[in-house]
Amino acid sequence: MLLPMRSRLFLFVLLLAGTFFGGTGSLLSQTNPDWVQSFPPHRIIGNVYYVGSRDLAAFLITTPQGNILINSNLTTSVPQIKKSVEKLGFRFSDIKILLISHAHIDHCAGSARIKQLTGAKYMVMDADVPEIDGKSKDMSYPAAKVDRILHDGDEVRLGDAVLVAHLTPGHTKGCTTWTLKVQDGGKVYNVVIVGSPNVNPGYKLVNNARYPLIAQDYERTFRVLKSLPCDVFLGAHGGYYGMTEKFARIGGSVNPFIDPEGYKSYVADREQAFLAALRKQQEKGAM
Ligand SMILES: [Zn+2]
Repeated sequence: MLLPMRSRLFLFVLLLAGTFFGGTGSLLSQTNPDWVQSFPPHRIIGNVYYVGSRDLAAFLITTPQGNILINSNLTTSVPQIKKSVEKLGFRFSDIKILLISHAHIDHCAGSARIKQLTGAKYMVMDADVPEIDGKSKDMSYPAAKVDRILHDGDEVRLGDAVLVAHLTPGHTKGCTTWTLKVQDGGKVYNVVIVGSPNVNPGYKLVNNARYPLIAQDYERTFRVLKSLPCDVFLGAHGGYYGMTEKFARIGGSVNPFIDPEGYKSYVADREQAFLAALRKQQEKGAM
């Protein structure tokens, strides 16, 4: 269907307004109040800070040459992220690079707006790009231009920060787990920001015509996650790593975010959940 230019423009504005003023955002937030509830921004370790909501994680990695933001969250999250960045004493306009955990509305819908406000370069894993730049017809959030297409193992560098993009697919085709090394108190720590190992309700792991290799991709993800050295365990949702509970322990004798055992048990637990879901679907398919 080809509409006259004016109608198309109107439709676009309507869609945009719907998204900005809570179309999809508020619909989702009705079921996930923690996604939109604000949370105190805080330093996690070294130059890594939390600037997300109560459950939608966003991380700021600061360097003398500008900062990196991981996750733009919902379109309605952008003012919240900006406020958190400024509360920590940083400038929103110093965000030079924007990254995401994966191409789902709760992690990337705010990207177009953040690019507009900061001029940040947007870098996205290859297989998630169609869900970001508007090529996919299923997108329920504003499209954003991707400035650099990432591949598994690529490095993103800014100042003295080096982040590595690990392809951990299944949850989305380009789901990305970020790792970096940080210095804190004279020690070096391995930080892992898990993209998502979760099988969402309704995900088809067997006979999935749109994503035939989904089960193999999840298996690969668990292989990758188990191979990563991890001292500081973080993820796309605060719930992955017990963020609110760890936040409450800040200021004690040890940094609560240093949690290699928590990482291992989380990955093991998620792998069991994936295998159980796969078995269930395979049994159903065999009947
Ligand atoms: Zn997701």
